[in-house]
Amino acid sequence: MLIFRKPIEGVERPQMPADVVIVGGGPAGMACALRLSQLIDAHNTAHPDSQLSKENIYVLEKAREIGQHCLSGALLDPRSMRELLPGFEKEAPLDAEVTKEAVYFLTEKSKFKLPVTPPPLRDHGNYVISLNRFVKWLGGKVEETGITVFTGFAGAELLFDGDRVTGVRTDDKGVDKEGHQKSNFEPGYDLNAKIVILAEGPRGSLTKQLVNKFDLAKNSNPQTYGVGVKELWEVPSGRIAPGEVIYTMGWPLTSKEYGGAWIYGSKSEGSKDSVVSLGFVTGLDYHDPRLDPQHVLQDFKQHPFVAKLLAGGKMIRYGAKSMPYGGWWAIPPVAGNGWMILGDSAGFVNSARLKGIHLAIKSGMLAAETAFEALKKDDSSAATLAAFQKSVESSWIKEELWKVRNMHQGFEHGFYAGMFHTALQMVTGGRGLRNRYPGTAGYQHMRKLSELPADGGAEANLLGPAKGDGKLTFDKLTDLYHSGTKHEEDQPSHLVIDDTNICNTTCVKEFGSPCQNFCPANVYEMVDDASQPNGKRISLNPSNCVHCKTCDIADPYQIITWVPPEGGGGPNYDGM
Ligand SMILES: Cc1cc2nc3c(=O)[nH]c(=O)nc-3n(C[C@H](O)[C@H](O)[C@H](O)COP(=O)(O)OP(=O)(O)OC[C@H]3O[C@@H](n4cnc5c(N)ncnc54)[C@H](O)[C@@H]3O)c2cc1C
Ligand code: SF4
Repeated sequence: MLIFRKPIEGVERPQMPADVVIVGGGPAGMACALRLSQLIDAHNTAHPDSQLSKENIYVLEKAREIGQHCLSGALLDPRSMRELLPGFEKEAPLDAEVTKEAVYFLTEKSKFKLPVTPPPLRDHGNYVISLNRFVKWLGGKVEETGITVFTGFAGAELLFDGDRVTGVRTDDKGVDKEGHQKSNFEPGYDLNAKIVILAEGPRGSLTKQLVNKFDLAKNSNPQTYGVGVKELWEVPSGRIAPGEVIYTMGWPLTSKEYGGAWIYGSKSEGSKDSVVSLGFVTGLDYHDPRLDPQHVLQDFKQHPFVAKLLAGGKMIRYGAKSMPYGGWWAIPPVAGNGWMILGDSAGFVNSARLKGIHLAIKSGMLAAETAFEALKKDDSSAATLAAFQKSVESSWIKEELWKVRNMHQGFEHGFYAGMFHTALQMVTGGRGLRNRYPGTAGYQHMRKLSELPADGGAEANLLGPAKGDGKLTFDKLTDLYHSGTKHEEDQPSHLVIDDTNICNTTCVKEFGSPCQNFCPANVYEMVDDASQPNGKRISLNPSNCVHCKTCDIADPYQIITWVPPEGGGGPNYDGM
C-alpha cells in the first residue's frame, strides 16, 4: 500500500522566532535576502541608535546545496542585477554575452529562418548563464551578509492564526516508508515569523496551500504552464559560438500543441569542446494524454539541423522543470496578512521572451523594500505589506508583462490562431481583440482516449516512451541518470495522490494513465495487478523525482499534490 508524506502529528516541535522567513533560495529568494541586507546595513549606518538585526532572517532551501535544484535555459537579462549589484558582471559566473540570434520554423526535414528576429526574442546584451551556478554565487553573497541560509530544509506547511500567516513548519526528517519515526527522527521546526515570503518557483507547494486556503486565484485567469526538458551537450568546437542563440518553432509539435525549443552556445572549461544548452518547452495544455515531453525533445534532436549540430558530441546533463505561462492576468494577489509571493510562484514570467530570472530578481528586491519598512514599523499586517502589490504594479515588472498580457491565451486554439493574435497584440500594445483574454487551465484541454484517433494521428511520433539510440537520443532512465537525482529511499511518497482508486479504475481507462507519459523521470508506473478491475495498479518511484511539478499541474483529475520530500533530496544540477 502507498503511504503518503504528511507532517507527523502529536510530536513536540522546536519553536524558533523569526523576523522574516524566505521559502526558496532561487533567484527571487536570494535577491530578496540580499536587498533586505543592503537596506538594513544602510539603515544601521545612518541610525546607530536604532539598529535592525539580520539574525532572525532565514532562507529555507530544500536542496542540499544552494542552486542545486535550479534549472533554466538560461539567458539572463541583466536589468535587475544591475539594480541589485551594480557592476555584477565583473564577478558573476557569466558564460558568454549574446552575439547572434536566429529564429527558425521547422518542418520534419527542413528549416525556414525568420527574416527578422521578432522583438521579444532579440537577446543582444543578455548573457548565457547556468542558473544553478549563478544562484550558487548569489547565495554565497547572501551568506556573506550574515543572513542564514538553511540548505536541506523544506518549507512543509504554512502556519496560520485566523487569516494571518504566522510562520513555516519545516520538513520532518527520519520518517520511514510507512510513516513511522526512525531512530534518526527529527521533527520539523516551527519558524514563527513576522513575515513569510514565498519564493518557491513554479507551482510552489506552500504557495498552493495559501492560494487555496484564501481562494486567492478567484479573480485571476487559471495559471497555465509549460514543462522544459533540457539536456546539456559537449560538441566539437566550431559548431556553435559561445553566445549564439537559436530558437525554433514547429516540428516536432503539430499546429495543435504550444511550445518550442532553445539552443544556446556556451563555453566549456578546460576542454576544446563547446557546451550546448538545448531543450524543448512543451505547453502543458496539449490534447493527447499519450504525449510525452521527454519524447518531444528526443524527436527534436533528430531533425537534420539539430542532429548535425550534436553529431559526435556527448550528452552530459539532463533535467526538467515547469514554468508558468499565464502572464499578467494569471497572477494572484501577491501580498496579504504576513505574506508575500515572488518570482515564478507568483507567475512573473514573460513567456514571449522565455524569461523570468530578471523578473524574479526584481520582485525579490521590491518585496525586500516592503519587508524592510514593515520591520522598521514592526507591522506586517495586510495594509503594510500591500505596498509590495503597489510597487509591483508601478514597476517595470508590470510594464513588461502588460505588453504580453494576452500572449499565451491567444494560442488556445492552436499555432496559426496564436500567430494571428500575437501579431495583433504587438500592434495594440498587448491588447489584441480585447483587454483581457480569458484562459483555461491546461489540464482541461486533455481529451479522453475515446475522443482521439487510436493510432495518434498527426501526433503519433510524440506519443509514448522514447526508445533512444544511446548516442543522439535517450530513453527516460538514461536521461534521468544524468540529472544526479537522489533521495532518501526509506520515506513516504512525496507525490500525494488523493484517491488511487481513480488511477486504477477510471484514469487508466479514460486517459490511459498520462502520468506515465508526462513525468520526465519515470516516477509513475502502471504495474500488472490481477486484483484490479483493469488489471493495472499505480506504482510510484518517488526517488526518481526531479521536482519539476508537472504531475501536480497536468493530472486531468487534479488529484496529485507534490509536497517536498525530506530536505536535501532531489536533482543535483550542475551547469543547468
Ligand atoms: C526550461 C526553462 C527554461 C528557462 N529559460 C529561461 C531563460 O533563458 N531566461 C530567463 O530569464 N528565464 C528562463 N526561465 C524561467 C526562469 O528560470 C524562472 O523564471 C526563474 O528561475 C524563477 O526564479 P524563482 O526564484 O522564482 O524560482 P526557482 O528558480 O524555481 O527557485 C526556487 C527555489 O526554491 C526552492 N524551493 C521550492 N519549494 C521549496 C520549499 N517548499 N522549501 C524550500 N525550498 C523550496 C527550490 O529548490 C529552488 O531552489 C526558464 C525556465 C525553464 C523551466
Ligand atoms: S513525479 Fe511529478 S514532480 Fe516529480 S519528476 Fe515526475 S512529474 Fe516531475
